[in-house]
Amino acid sequence: MTVKTRFAPSPTGYLHVGGARTALYSWLYAKNQGGEFVLRIEDTDLERSTQEAVDAILEGMAWMGLEWDEGPYYQTKRFDRYNEVVDQLLAEDKAYKCYASKELLDEIRGEQEANKETPRYDANHPKIKAVNEAAKDGDPCVIRFRNPKEGTVVFDDQIRGRIEISNEQLDDLIIRRTDGSPTYNFCVVVDDWDMGITHVVRGEDHINNTVRQINIYEALGAPIPTFAHCAMILGDDGAKLSKRHGAVSVMQYRDEGYLPNALNNYLVRLGWSHGDQEIFSREEMINLFSLDAISKSASAFNTDKLLWLNNHYIKTSDPEYVAEHLQWHLDEQGINKDNGPAITEVIKLVGERCNTLVELAQQSRYFYEDFDAFDPAAAKKHLRGVAKGPLDLALSKVEALSDWTTENLHNVIKEVCEELEIGMGKIGMPLRVAVTGGGQSPSVDAVMQLVGKERVIARIKMALEFIAEREANAQ
Ligand code: GLU
Repeated sequence: MTVKTRFAPSPTGYLHVGGARTALYSWLYAKNQGGEFVLRIEDTDLERSTQEAVDAILEGMAWMGLEWDEGPYYQTKRFDRYNEVVDQLLAEDKAYKCYASKELLDEIRGEQEANKETPRYDANHPKIKAVNEAAKDGDPCVIRFRNPKEGTVVFDDQIRGRIEISNEQLDDLIIRRTDGSPTYNFCVVVDDWDMGITHVVRGEDHINNTVRQINIYEALGAPIPTFAHCAMILGDDGAKLSKRHGAVSVMQYRDEGYLPNALNNYLVRLGWSHGDQEIFSREEMINLFSLDAISKSASAFNTDKLLWLNNHYIKTSDPEYVAEHLQWHLDEQGINKDNGPAITEVIKLVGERCNTLVELAQQSRYFYEDFDAFDPAAAKKHLRGVAKGPLDLALSKVEALSDWTTENLHNVIKEVCEELEIGMGKIGMPLRVAVTGGGQSPSVDAVMQLVGKERVIARIKMALEFIAEREANAQ
């Protein structure tokens, strides 16, 4: 049997982290099993579904690298097929027309509540029976599935174990509305059957749907997939994860400077584990993933851990991969990477200091752009009269350098210290402020090497002018 999984979002909003984790788990399971992954857009709720949400979901999936083998299928394009199956169920008397109006159903519900009974649809209720017997073909009606009256529905959830529910608790589900549109629980079954889905991974909020759907599979004589229902994701305060907790849309994580590999690694661990391992490459995730190692209990989202993972991925990933994702942030921040050193070199130098690509872009700026002012606090502290001599000497030495290497620049600093008998900080810090504009950067020799000779010379001159002006103003 070839394993086939699917992700079946309803396009009523962006791809949120809960959905993304479900998609990731489904995808991973398919890959782990050498199977296939299907993307299906469940857009039957015409009022709430939007093209914008479809685009956001596709964009989110692509950004996370969860490529699908089939689809995207759209439920709205499959209405003929759903109707065909409804007709088949009608012909086999496994479904029936019900003409009871909404008003009548409300009235019966009111009576049941007044009698302290559980409100539920009952085809044998005398008022419903009377309406159905009196109805003529062509009168507006819904189609209901004839749910078994006795016995139980049992399934072996891959995460939660055996789940059993009595059929007495399930009423005859509407499978086609009065306006002719098929309903969600019915479409899902027809789709999963037609698409050959063997494993359904979805949120635990669907367990109630699963038992209803199993009865429909049985009525159709369709194979019943294996189910795995994932627990919820909570915010770090223990409440269900929502916008209030910050970013919940996958693309917002892109905007905030996360690498997709970091988010994937974070999400796979959010409810799944393999010993106490925290870092998983894509290949490792695929090789090690299994449904039974998914946790039954809810997981709490922890932004600090995500940041830690993101820093790990920024500093250990192939710089080309980081560069590919950094580009969006360079564009956002208006930084043109053609105006300076290879971006991969900057990533190698600055990356480990950054938790996000937003920071990495910010800290890349001085390699590509000149600035017209120094950071005031850093300049106040380090561009003072005492720095003039060391900067002058450093300037003449860098001007004379013919071989612009980090090692030679390191020696320039060392020589300045030796010749002027000063500590490293007395030249290192003023140079850093001069060359980067601020007081924080990686090792200044390596920074100067990447910034390039011409820019370094111009910036040291600018720092010397700043000091001269400052001294003039002080007199
Ligand atoms: N469309 C459903 C949702 O977005 C998922 C249905 C399913 O996975 O079976 O919640």
